[in-house]
Amino acid sequence: MQASLYVHIPFCHRKCGYCDFNSYAMAGAIVEAFVEALHREIAQTPYAGARVPTVFFGGGTPTFLDEKTLAGILEHLARQFRIEPNAEITIEANPGSVRAEQLRALRQAGFNRISFGVQSFDEAELKRMDRIHSPQEVYQSVEWARAAGFENLNLDLIFALPDQTVERWASNLEQAIALNPEHLSLYALMLEPNTRFYHLYQKGLLRLPDEEVQVAMYRLAQARTRAAGYHQYEISNYAKPGYECQHNLVYWRNEPYLGFGPGAVSYMEGVRWTNIKHPREYVRRLQAGESLVLESEALEGWEKVGETLMLGLRMTAGVNLAALEARFNLPVRAHYAEVMAQLQARGWLEQEGDWIRLTDEGLLWHSEVALAFLE
Ligand code: SF4
Repeated sequence: MQASLYVHIPFCHRKCGYCDFNSYAMAGAIVEAFVEALHREIAQTPYAGARVPTVFFGGGTPTFLDEKTLAGILEHLARQFRIEPNAEITIEANPGSVRAEQLRALRQAGFNRISFGVQSFDEAELKRMDRIHSPQEVYQSVEWARAAGFENLNLDLIFALPDQTVERWASNLEQAIALNPEHLSLYALMLEPNTRFYHLYQKGLLRLPDEEVQVAMYRLAQARTRAAGYHQYEISNYAKPGYECQHNLVYWRNEPYLGFGPGAVSYMEGVRWTNIKHPREYVRRLQAGESLVLESEALEGWEKVGETLMLGLRMTAGVNLAALEARFNLPVRAHYAEVMAQLQARGWLEQEGDWIRLTDEGLLWHSEVALAFLE
C-alpha cells in the first residue's frame, strides 16, 4: 500500500486578515497537549507499513514548533511507515518564525524541501495582511535555508491584494525571482467568509483589483516565470525543471494520502475523511479514545472519475483519458464526449491523442470546467 503523508500544525503567531486555513493564534499548554495527541494519532494509524513517496508538514505555521519537536514527529512517521529513501519531505515555514539553527536542525532531521509563505515584498502590503514578517526577514530566512542545505525551496506569493497595482505586483514577482527559488506558488487572493478581509469588503472598506487587472497580473506571472526558466505545471505553480512539488502532484492525480492533525484530510481506498478541526477537541478526542472523523465520504465510480478529471485538469500536462479508463474501468471518453465537445467549442479545453488539457484561456476558468465534469 502507498500513501503520501500530510501533518497539520494548526498554530500561528497571529491570524492573517485573509486566512481561512485551520489555524489558531494559540500558545501555552494546548501546544504541548497537541504534540502529544499528534503522536498518539500517528501511533494508532491503521496504515502502518505503507510506502510513502512524499511527506508534507503544513499549517498553520509548522515552524511555530521547535526543531526538536518537529524532528520527533518526522522520526515517529519514519518508524510507522516506509518513507522512501528519496522521498520529498517538505516543511512550510514563515519568514519571521524561523531561526538559522532551527533550519539547520530541520535539514539534518530529513526535511529536504522548504516552502516559505512570503506573500509580498512590500512592507505596507505585509502589514495590511497582518503578516508578522518584514521583507528583510524574507531575505534572511532564504539565506539561512540555503546555508542549512535546502536545495529545493519554494516561495508563496499572493497577487490581487487590496489596492495592488500591476506594477506593484511586478515588483514583488521580480524580487521573488531574484532569490532564485526552485519553485514558485503564485495565488490570486481569494476572499473567504469569516475573514477580516471579507468583512471589510462587505462594508465597502476593501478595494480589490478588478477582474481585468487580475488577469493581467496572472498573465504577467506566467510570462515572467517562463522567461526566468520556470515551467508552469499547474494553475498557480511554477517550477524549475525537475522541481515540481511531488506532494501536490499526489493531490492533483487523486492518489492516496493520509492526513494527521486537526482538520487534516485523508483519501484512502476511495474514502475521503476530515479530522475534527479545533485543536482542543482534537486533543480531547484522542485522550478519550474517540474517533477523530468530522466527516467522511465514500466516492463511487463516476464520482471518482469526475474528481480525478477536475483535479487533473489543474495540471498543464492535463489528463490521459486512456489511463483514466484503465484505472477506473469505465468508458470515460464516451461518458464525457458531450461535455468535452462543449468545452472545446468554448476554447477552454484541447485534446491531443489520449490527452486532454486546459488551454491558456481555460486555466482562468478551471472552476467552471470542474463543475461541468462533476455534474
Ligand atoms: S501564517 Fe498562514 S496559516 Fe497562519 S494565519 Fe497567516 S495565512 Fe493563515
